[in-house]
Amino acid sequence: MSADIDCIVLGAGVTGLAIARELALQGREVLVVEQAEDIGTETSSRNSEVIHAGLYYPPGSLKAHSCVRGKALLYAYCEERGIEHARIGKLIVAANQEEATQLDAIYRRGQECGVTDLQYLDASQARQLEPELTCHSALLSPSTGIVDSHALMLALQGDAENHGAMCVFHTPFLQGEQLGNGLFRMDFGGTSPQTLTANTVVNATGLHAPDVARRIANTPAHAVPQARYCKGNYFTLAGRSPFRHLIYPIPDESGLGIHLTLDLGGQTKFGPDTQWIDGIDYSLDASRGEQFYATVRRYWPGLPDNALLPGYTGIRPKITDPGKPAADFLILGPADLDGANLVHMLGIESPGLTACLALAEHVGTLLRPHTRS
Ligand SMILES: Cc1cc2nc3c(=O)[nH]c(=O)nc-3n(C[C@H](O)[C@H](O)[C@H](O)COP(=O)(O)OP(=O)(O)OC[C@H]3O[C@@H](n4cnc5c(N)ncnc54)[C@H](O)[C@@H]3O)c2cc1C
Repeated sequence: MSADIDCIVLGAGVTGLAIARELALQGREVLVVEQAEDIGTETSSRNSEVIHAGLYYPPGSLKAHSCVRGKALLYAYCEERGIEHARIGKLIVAANQEEATQLDAIYRRGQECGVTDLQYLDASQARQLEPELTCHSALLSPSTGIVDSHALMLALQGDAENHGAMCVFHTPFLQGEQLGNGLFRMDFGGTSPQTLTANTVVNATGLHAPDVARRIANTPAHAVPQARYCKGNYFTLAGRSPFRHLIYPIPDESGLGIHLTLDLGGQTKFGPDTQWIDGIDYSLDASRGEQFYATVRRYWPGLPDNALLPGYTGIRPKITDPGKPAADFLILGPADLDGANLVHMLGIESPGLTACLALAEHVGTLLRPHTRS
């Protein structure tokens, strides 16, 4: 019995689309199944759109490797496909001597991860670059940039479709199992519920990925971590930005700190903060803006009163509890799943946007090519 389709990719965020493209470029038949009405309606459109350099992650981790490799692949892909992006650089700023020692740690970690272009700046050098900035010292990361994440996803979808992939929307995955003949039987809901068989399944459903993994019968429950949600709220700056670089404070345990990001439309936004929540809820509590003023004024004392407007929120797909160090990306593949041609992408938080092409490359090597009978 042959499968209805070779590969099913669940989720049309940046991860699923990059994987669909990779598998389609390998010549495989791919169906991307998305429950929402369009690509990228969740985390992939609710982030900072920063191309990270790869400074923060433990050397040897999947985050470290896929960020540095992904950054190179992403800049090249943006050039090749005309995706709007800008290598504007970022300053990580220390407010005092104590924080400066953490800059040293970031510098060393960056070096170990292969980010060799970092430059130390003293306060006056930093002010030459950004006259409104106040800091004790800073690290300049010239290879950090920004990208139009929607244009990126459209390009990935376009490449995948040009190589034969199909995307369907309004089609939630419900449950599945691996049959005795090795094929996956997958049940989908939506307006026209249906069941399809596939040789290969990739679960790239972001915040929902642990839940989706548990709904595929062959996945051992103990291998799948509990989903945790950490909301990040953003506020936008009314008026023109006095900054040309991204400005980051020293990171905290759950995120990279309330940073200043510029988007390609010239808007300045601050965020994301960290707010652990129990379920997926994108509402923004405007009162949280109060704490932004104090945090931002540590590096930009000139932030005018009433200049911050409520922006948007995103939710980090965490797989560790509050207060615990961030987990590495967790990719469960055939070696973890009794040889099943199944991949679960778990905990794909930042730098998942930067890393998407590297993660797709990695998944492409995990899955056995299938010869259609
Ligand atoms: C606040 C914040 C800031 C960030 N900033 C950056 C940054 O600056 N740079 C960076 O590199 N990374 C950043 N990230 C990380 C990056 O945004 C994510 O790693 C990336 O977008 C994850 O993409 P994804 O495709 O895995 O998930 P998603 O974009 O969430 O896509 C998952 C898709 O699966 C679909 N789905 C879910 N369940 C089902 C189902 N049952 N059936 C069918 N479809 C389903 C969803 O509808 C969704 O479309 C940030 C993340 C957050 C939260």
